Amino acid sequence: MRMYDLILKKRHGLELTDAEIRYMIKGFTDGTIPDYQMSAMCMAILFNSMTDKETATLTLEIAKSGDTVNLSEFEQLSVDKHSTGGVGDKTTLIIAPIVAACGVKLAKMSGRGLGHTGGTIDKLESIEGYKTTVSCDDFLKQTREIGVAVIGQSGNMTPADKKLYALRDVTATVDSIPLIVSSIMGKKLAAGAKNIVLDVKLGSGAFMRNLDDAKALAEKMVVIGKECGRNTAAVITNMDEPLGNAVGNSLEVIEAISVLKNECSGDLRSLCVTLSSIMLSLSLKISEQVAIEMVINALDSGKALAKFKEWIAYQGGNPGVVDDISLFKKSEFTYEIKSEQRGYITKMDTESIGIVASILGAGRQKKEDKIDFSAGLILNKKTGDYVEIGDTLATLYTNNVDSIYSAVKLYSQALKFDSEKPQKVPIIIEKII
Ligand code: URA
Repeated sequence: MRMYDLILKKRHGLELTDAEIRYMIKGFTDGTIPDYQMSAMCMAILFNSMTDKETATLTLEIAKSGDTVNLSEFEQLSVDKHSTGGVGDKTTLIIAPIVAACGVKLAKMSGRGLGHTGGTIDKLESIEGYKTTVSCDDFLKQTREIGVAVIGQSGNMTPADKKLYALRDVTATVDSIPLIVSSIMGKKLAAGAKNIVLDVKLGSGAFMRNLDDAKALAEKMVVIGKECGRNTAAVITNMDEPLGNAVGNSLEVIEAISVLKNECSGDLRSLCVTLSSIMLSLSLKISEQVAIEMVINALDSGKALAKFKEWIAYQGGNPGVVDDISLFKKSEFTYEIKSEQRGYITKMDTESIGIVASILGAGRQKKEDKIDFSAGLILNKKTGDYVEIGDTLATLYTNNVDSIYSAVKLYSQALKFDSEKPQKVPIIIEKII
């Protein structure tokens, strides 16, 4: 077999066979197929797409390219969720203890953030003592005993995706549906869960900026997940404003705790209830309505909060932060941004707000950058809120006083005002089950 012939075949829009895709991914991963040939293949796929059969094979090959997690001992009960990424997304911290309190098993490998704010692992590390690296045996033991474990990604999972994504990033081939689907779903398959719920974000803070693209991606991920033997569902959710009110690592953990304590309503809680209930409904084979009742009961009874404490303590973190949030490190400086106009907030440029958090120290630009766990911002007003001149729009937290000027400037440019109240976009835009 020659890679040249496969590129030509795809250039002519023909379907690659399973053996050809296997040859291509194996060769690219072990270095025998060079980057320039794989780049040409990615461009041919971007223009001519792939059939569902090809995409499923590509997904399976990416999943098999490195280490995989074996969750088969949990049979139908293992569940995972994936978010395509947004600003203020702390849902895993809330959903993980909810679903574990309801009897399913969430053994999750999460990432660190690059860009705006930290990833789930960075957020968890803002809890003193929390260990993100544990052996595979301990990861499974913890899941068996308490139903939840969240650790950092193992070094050798899906090496094909790591190489391929880096190549796509510099060859203008990221935005191809089969390549995105196989990249995301390849990682999910390798992570081993039988049930997968995908949160596809749509809006100014998301990878997907229009509904048609978000739907196409969500639908295809569900088809491919099912084709690869996993119960899969997707939800398209609003990212035209940050999720909840906190952006920044420990600030987000504190907000997550307040949802678990039932002290917080709004978009964040609604999304967590929806995602958790779909996860339960897939894993326990129950109706979504029954699942919603279980989720609400886990929150109302305090079982989800107790599970959160148990989980944090099991991984070495201090569960005392739940009852005393003053145990989180505080930033040295706070600054309230006051409104210079009156009216309704009609738009929030979510990506810019993510960059504000990063300027304050909450994110990293390079892998080796250190995150300031206490940095970030609280949104005192969100889309649809009416503000008077002098009202606080947001409160900034940082240890770098020099960052405040540019953070304020960017935040002020990120909001649009009008005298008319805008129509609120619901947090759940569409479900694909
Ligand atoms: N996220 C991924 O993990 N892969 C893609 O291709 C795009 C977004």
